[in-house]
Amino acid sequence: MSVPNPTATNQAATVQPWNRDDHLDRLAEAEVDVLVIGGGASGAGVLLDALSRGLTAALVDRQDFMAGTSSRSTKLIHGGVRYLEQAFKGLDYGKYQLVREALAERKRMLSMAPHLAWPLTLITPVKSLIGLPYYRFGLGLYDVLSGSQRLGKSRIESTAEMKRACPSLDIKPLRGGVSYMDGQFDDARFGIAMVRSAVEQGGAVANHVEVNELLKHDDGTVAGARCTDLLGKRSLTIRAKAVVNCTGPWTDTLRLQADPDAKPLMTVSSGIHVVLNKTLLPDGRGILIPETDDGRVLFMLPWLGKTLVGTTDDPAELSDQPQASQSEVDYIIKHINEWLDEPVSHSDISATFSGLRPLVSDPDESSTSGLTRDHVVLQDKGLFSLTGGKWTTWRRMAEDCMDIVVKTKGLKAKACQTQELRLPGANGDTAAAEAALKDLPEDIADYLWQAYGDRAHLVLAVGSPERLVRGAPYVEAELAWAMRYEGACKADDVLYRRLRVGMLDQQAADQIGARLQQLVNAA
Ligand SMILES: Cc1cc2nc3c(=O)[nH]c(=O)nc-3n(C[C@H](O)[C@H](O)[C@H](O)COP(=O)(O)OP(=O)(O)OC[C@H]3O[C@@H](n4cnc5c(N)ncnc54)[C@H](O)[C@@H]3O)c2cc1C
Repeated sequence: MSVPNPTATNQAATVQPWNRDDHLDRLAEAEVDVLVIGGGASGAGVLLDALSRGLTAALVDRQDFMAGTSSRSTKLIHGGVRYLEQAFKGLDYGKYQLVREALAERKRMLSMAPHLAWPLTLITPVKSLIGLPYYRFGLGLYDVLSGSQRLGKSRIESTAEMKRACPSLDIKPLRGGVSYMDGQFDDARFGIAMVRSAVEQGGAVANHVEVNELLKHDDGTVAGARCTDLLGKRSLTIRAKAVVNCTGPWTDTLRLQADPDAKPLMTVSSGIHVVLNKTLLPDGRGILIPETDDGRVLFMLPWLGKTLVGTTDDPAELSDQPQASQSEVDYIIKHINEWLDEPVSHSDISATFSGLRPLVSDPDESSTSGLTRDHVVLQDKGLFSLTGGKWTTWRRMAEDCMDIVVKTKGLKAKACQTQELRLPGANGDTAAAEAALKDLPEDIADYLWQAYGDRAHLVLAVGSPERLVRGAPYVEAELAWAMRYEGACKADDVLYRRLRVGMLDQQAADQIGARLQQLVNAA
């Protein structure tokens, strides 16, 4: 594929193409301090952490980066309102600490990439009179715990105000509502920006590279991994002082390779989301439905011009491509309609997606960190595994994990330096991007800014600003950018995790897919 280089600007000088073959060459017979297996939020976090400490580090993923659970989340950056409720009811100080810590991480994520993560107001509609003071108190406590990290104050909302936020909401049974603030983010693009940042810091990475076998020292401890490039069918042998397993739902598979006697700890459950092709939330506030008739929580969120509704929680089998089942979709539609006076129907759905929750059966018992956490760091014959937790706390999870790795392996390393990290697109020099966007149609300019931040002009420099599909903001230049600068190799990498159109609008994705396939074939 022939793609022109971006025009020379100060920033372009530092933005190098991301050439997968170069990375594969570096990985072929590599020896690194830290090898990370799995390129979701946890793996990308560990990679960034290791690099920030001055260590050499590599990462491989057998699918695309973020193709697992990490692009299939509810896209909330949150302290955990439900955790707070549990902490309060159970007088559990450890859980309070967890909420506080997550709230601190929430603020960090918002500063790391403001174009990819932003504050979001959520309104909880309340049906009972007693519910109003209950939620007001609980969310007030959430404000207090946020301390200086607070994004805004929680407050009681009138039914009229809620109708403004969501005109389809059925306010007849409501007594009012309580609003509070959390964060929302573009999970797939945030994760890709993390990996791109690692590449710029010297990390060697490759997607579509599967770990088939763990290398062992004579004493049986893990010494690296033998991998296969699933696209070129080439073998890679990566030796490492420390190997960190960040394979999310697949954590036990590698643990058992390291130690066949290891106790399996993971179970998975599926959570689906439905994307509605209409804007139910015109002013950008979301709705948190506090309790369905079977005791679950549902979110209805503004999402890139559409409405995201989820999620479910059902036992599931491990799968690389989990799909939303008909009954899960029916469940969401039925329960959301119980709160609306203008019901939505299956014909309003533009896309669905399903993600697998990696659940650790008994985190406190199995944790080697000795701290109260909802994530764990396990060790099996020298293989470290980081799992559990949530997207919001990736940075803290990675720091905890690498503290243990550095100490256990006696690596010569600095302390973690990711607290003040800024991701690509958030360097703060916005003039060139603003100039390039100013003459474009408003929807395209807004979309490109939200996706690429202060690198938007560089994207436009590699191709045409022509729309790929009528009525949607995706432009031709993004395809070349995704493949040359964001590590995309396959059509799905582009559609689902660079443009995210596959997660939003299946019909538009199919149309773009045809053009994309031509580029992939020519590459
Ligand atoms: C429905 C749902 C909604 C959620 N919503 C939120 C939310 O709103 N906010 C929040 O903070 N958290 C949320 N979470 C939690 C969050 O998404 C997860 O905690 C996080 O994404 C897990 O990331 P991970 O890196 O551990 O796993 P994954 O993202 O699944 O990454 C694991 C990777 O390992 C790779 N892999 C597996 N085996 C191999 C191998 N042998 N070789 C190479 N690579 C391999 C896979 O391809 C995969 O990419 C949600 C989770 C679910 C399921």
